Amino acid sequence: MQARLLLCLAFLALWPVSSSAWDYERHRLINELALGALPKDFPAFAQAAKARILFLGGEPDRWRNNNSDRALRHSNNPDHYFDVDDLADYGLKSSDLTQFRYEFVARLALERKARGRPEPKPEANPDRLDGLPGFLPWAITENYGRLRSAFSYLKVFEELGTEEEKTNARENVVYQMGLLSHFVGDASQPLHTTRHFNGWRGDNPKGYTTRPTFHRWIDGDFFKAHGAPDAAALGKALRPAQRLAVPSTRKDESGLFLASVLYINRQFDQVVPLYELEKSGKLSGEQAAAGRAFLEEQLGKGAQMLSDLWYDAWKGALPDRFLQAYLSERSLNPKKP
Ligand SMILES: [Zn+2]
Repeated sequence: MQARLLLCLAFLALWPVSSSAWDYERHRLINELALGALPKDFPAFAQAAKARILFLGGEPDRWRNNNSDRALRHSNNPDHYFDVDDLADYGLKSSDLTQFRYEFVARLALERKARGRPEPKPEANPDRLDGLPGFLPWAITENYGRLRSAFSYLKVFEELGTEEEKTNARENVVYQMGLLSHFVGDASQPLHTTRHFNGWRGDNPKGYTTRPTFHRWIDGDFFKAHGAPDAAALGKALRPAQRLAVPSTRKDESGLFLASVLYINRQFDQVVPLYELEKSGKLSGEQAAAGRAFLEEQLGKGAQMLSDLWYDAWKGALPDRFLQAYLSERSLNPKKP
């Protein structure tokens, strides 16, 4: 039994951590900070559901735990990262990206063909994820859309719905706030924006670490070894949530996709500085204060963006007109099925 347990622990230690991100404690902290930055007029039921929103911060990672379910791995795992540096392989830039997830996938195939590159082989690729740089910008955009939709129908149920409908709609808002929180949090871990997600890969002229435990160290092992982040100081550093100042374009009606891409790009800009910190010994031991400041700042950036997105989804949600017509009709003809 003992030997089996040890074997299991050894296996876990070796398990690739490519698409895990901040550990559960860090996701909880981001959500707690984000809730703390919401203005007083934000719906009170969300603050009252704090424990659930913190719990939901780990939900999309729980979906990853079922390692035998390939359909779930295929659909969920790439939502947790976006390797910005892979775009150049396809001749693409961030500004070329489309808000439509499947259009992006089709474009990748076209660019591979144009460059004479083979399609990934299914047999060597059981989850069918090779050739995909990840979908984090789309995961954020789509989950934001679901949250805004939940606020849209909640606003109508609050006015015309039954108590049961109001309760259900509020619970859906809370659930969707939780799902969105995970992906926004993931993006603030810079290693979720790069092919060098777990130690530097390929040409390495600067001699950055290639240690396969690097990702895990950033996710949470650093804080386990050096003490938890200073939540109170981080909370004080956040400004109150505000609406996103992003332009609406013909390609991106809500402006949200562009906001997600810009947010991810800013975290990608921190990849080399993070490797530099590691190289100069500032991510462990005596000099760890610099590493701590860097990582805490990233957690703060995640919390600020999350708070803004929650707030923006609430403020930007127009009452659901379709539901409004249905419920008005129902109130006039209560017996109609
Ligand atoms: Zn994740």
